[in-house]
Amino acid sequence: MSSTMNSIAAPHGQTPGNSHFDPEKGWTAAQLQALRAQFPILAETIHGHPLAYLDNAASSPMPLSVLQAMQEFEQHQRANIHRGVHSLSQRATDAFEQARATLKNYLGAGPEHELVFTSGTTEALNQVAYGLWGAGPEQAWLRPGDDIIVSGLEHHANLVPWQHAARISGARLRILQPDAQGQLHLDDLAALLATGRPRVLALTACANATGECPPYAAMLSLARQAGALTVLDAAQVAAHGLPRLQALECDFLALSGHKMHGPMGIGLLAGRRQALEQLYPLRLGGDMVEHVSYQQARYAGLPARLEGGTPNVAAAVGLAQAARFIEATGHAAIDAHVRALRAQAVQGLSAIAGVRVLSPQASAAALVSFCCEGVHPHDIGTLLDERGIAVRTGHHCAQPLLEHLGLGPTTRASFALYNSAEEVERLCAAVAHAVKVFQ
Ligand code: PMP
Repeated sequence: MSSTMNSIAAPHGQTPGNSHFDPEKGWTAAQLQALRAQFPILAETIHGHPLAYLDNAASSPMPLSVLQAMQEFEQHQRANIHRGVHSLSQRATDAFEQARATLKNYLGAGPEHELVFTSGTTEALNQVAYGLWGAGPEQAWLRPGDDIIVSGLEHHANLVPWQHAARISGARLRILQPDAQGQLHLDDLAALLATGRPRVLALTACANATGECPPYAAMLSLARQAGALTVLDAAQVAAHGLPRLQALECDFLALSGHKMHGPMGIGLLAGRRQALEQLYPLRLGGDMVEHVSYQQARYAGLPARLEGGTPNVAAAVGLAQAARFIEATGHAAIDAHVRALRAQAVQGLSAIAGVRVLSPQASAAALVSFCCEGVHPHDIGTLLDERGIAVRTGHHCAQPLLEHLGLGPTTRASFALYNSAEEVERLCAAVAHAVKVFQ
């Protein structure tokens, strides 16, 4: 291993780390500065203002150590994996498998779990939904008359593939409806599970459109007891507050690298081996087979079975480095930091006349979504951008939820480990200004 690689693997000296963190006070100004310095893109100026990057729920920037790990791979290890006897191919294979091991550890996976690389949460969830009907009516997990339960909080990526799965398999799609405040209730899930033939529960750990965090551990457990396979969309908790897989009654967990300071185009599907073995592969071809004749093929075992084709190896290496970065910075510290910023934003935004914050009680979320009476979110987003503040506006790929709540598009600000209280103050001041200008 080169010396660059060594320094990449040990970023502890450059980050605050658990031992220095006082949850009462948060990071010191110097610690926050040191953290920010790890993310070159944060030094950008937008329309003459320092960038306040508050769009982390969409994609979060990569620290230098991730960029360096990927460059190291491309410069010294790049070759196709698993197929070559030559040394470089072996190095690339080792790097890929090491990334898998690091990420299993990051997730708190046990020996009963396996991890499959995907291009992101969307592909992971598509693999699960397709995998449960793709084997055909004789062998698939889903049969006519089965029930697929999907929560009403989901991103389209955890709804549309289930709509299609229901159509093709003859299963029934049932929605676990949130109440008028956008909250899910265990009793409602129990009622759904008590009737019909529940075979799947698909649920988010945190709704990307509202920040609502359902009691997912209890819900997954209830669904499993009823004989359903359980699917958790962990995209919005990948960078903070990620539950340990071993502590959950979870058959499948999906997340995206670009939402946890890793590269775009990489994500993962982790889950129980037994459940993953139920899945018919989404991608058929090279690397996922054991033996092929002209007429048929015998598929390989996990994880290769679900990783057909050449994967994005550099991105897998980068994602593993992002996990190490988060661990070195400290899970608990990051969680406390983003929660504090969210609480500050909820308080500041709620104090502005005409602003309604969605799911204000969702204290575990790192995002805040809000509507301003009589002002279109795109106008707010544009005005904020003029002040260097990056937020997201629109339906956030969760149209059914916003319709259910009787709302249109919203504005969403989302926080990460390098955001500051001062940036939240800028956000609140700019929203107050926008409301004054447009109302
Ligand atoms: N689920 C949730 C909760 C999300 O927030 C997102 C991204 N906005 C996705 C799924 C889809 O992730 P990706 O686009 O990375 O596949």
